Amino acid sequence: MSDDFIKMENVSFSYGARKYEKCAISDINLEIKRGEFLAIVGQNGSGKSTIAKHLNAMILPSSGKVFVDTMDTCDENKVFEIRRAVGLVLQNPDNQIVSTIVEDDVAFGPENLGINPEEIKKRVYFALKAVGMHELKKEFVSRLSGGQKQRIAIAGILAINPDCMIFDESTAMLDPCGREEVLKTLLHLNKKQGLTIILITHFMEEAVLADRIAVMKGGKIIKIGGKREIFSDLNLLESCHLSLPQSARLILSLRKNGLKIDGNPINKTECIDVLHRFLSSFR
Ligand code: ADP
Ligand code: MG
Repeated sequence: MSDDFIKMENVSFSYGARKYEKCAISDINLEIKRGEFLAIVGQNGSGKSTIAKHLNAMILPSSGKVFVDTMDTCDENKVFEIRRAVGLVLQNPDNQIVSTIVEDDVAFGPENLGINPEEIKKRVYFALKAVGMHELKKEFVSRLSGGQKQRIAIAGILAINPDCMIFDESTAMLDPCGREEVLKTLLHLNKKQGLTIILITHFMEEAVLADRIAVMKGGKIIKIGGKREIFSDLNLLESCHLSLPQSARLILSLRKNGLKIDGNPINKTECIDVLHRFLSSFR
């Protein structure tokens, strides 16, 4: 048996009813393994959110197939289980919060699933701990910062006990501090709890956190690969109007200005390392 948790096979989708209307995504093939951390990048309108919506059966393919843990998203009997397995965190936390008090909001999902109160209590505790918000369980949601609200939204999904979480530009509305809180949470869930993570983002500093990156353009995945492979393909990035992580940009521009500096760092730690080695060579 394959260990692919998510599988998209030749998926095309058009929001219009008619066949000739332009597809939002076309002929997508994508396999994601359990526990993997995948980033999806691409310009506005390239089809990222349309892929996300296919993965929890919010929309069904116009043609092709989507499987979540071997369940076909077109199988009506499985929709409930698919939506439990794949949680979707959206851009604006205010659209995802339903209760006034933090712990009530997190309990909302499992309550709707008819889970018994003892178990709900355990899940709310676990979910709030996982996002580092347990101390604020009695707080009014309206008093929280953007980053804290987004973490409550994440906890609400965690309480449903998903196998996979998709973050669709979920940090875009947050300030740098809130963004960092959410990213830390997401890394923790992937590395410590083994959750499969799909991170849709405009920020290359976020994409480098993933194991693999899929690059989308005009409704297609034009390249998918390890992050180093993607970030060394400068022509690809340019053709998609994507930038490099800051650290990579810095070293590249130093090199362009004539410094004979080795290495292609993609994060701050690696960048410091590269600069350190370069400067040491003058001693
Ligand atoms: P992204 O998330 O990368 O910005 P989307 O998946 O939202 O891209 O959009 C892909 C294409 O589908 C775009 O051309 C967009 O205009 C179109 N689209 C998205 N949502 C809808 C909708 N609800 N109705 C009609 N067209 C849509
Ligand atoms: Mg989108």
